[in-house]
Amino acid sequence: MTQPRTGLLIVISGPSGVGKDTVLRRLFELDPKLKYSVSYTTRPPRPGEVDGRSYSFVSEPEFLSLIERKEFLEWAKVYDHYYGTSRRRVEDALDRGEDIILKIDVQGAAFVRRRKPDGLFIFITPPSTEELLARLTGRNTESAQGLAIRQREALIELGLAKDYEHVVCNRDVDETAREILAMIAAEHARRQQPV
Ligand code: 5GP
Repeated sequence: MTQPRTGLLIVISGPSGVGKDTVLRRLFELDPKLKYSVSYTTRPPRPGEVDGRSYSFVSEPEFLSLIERKEFLEWAKVYDHYYGTSRRRVEDALDRGEDIILKIDVQGAAFVRRRKPDGLFIFITPPSTEELLARLTGRNTESAQGLAIRQREALIELGLAKDYEHVVCNRDVDETAREILAMIAAEHARRQQPV
């Protein structure tokens, strides 16, 4: 007998500039049933970012109060700003049997792994370090100091790919998105196997 389909928690990490947002956009185009875990952040919105869709943008006191009220599955301070995953948003999606994607940094992913070891943990790498640094410079959304911090952190993050069960190199956005979809399908198939 096949079991009812349970939702899958999918964690996607990768250094700043690796193209996570573009890959995710393609992923949601390819499979509109996938849900995205909208994080809370104290970082100011970038042009084009929409509150409640890109992030829930909150003040630092609001964020600290959310920590106090244990609203986060995990939270971390990344590049001087707080970021956190809503426990309720994730649990609600999983309870409804939906697959939900968390785009979070490596510290957050380590936390989630401890709480939800049955998640699917995917790390996106660039084709080369040179290309990553070039993409970060070309993005131009940061001050010179912000850029230097992101470049340094990106190199450190790259070294942590080994902690992930799945690593995918982002040579081509469409291919990367399709590879991730295949990983999700394989994980569902594995879980449907009788034990
Ligand atoms: P950005 O400011 O470029 O949107 O994101 C900066 C970093 O914060 C990225 O590595 C992103 O994955 C991470 N991030 C975004 N949301 C969360 C979150 O809820 N928790 C954690 N731990 N990291 C997050």
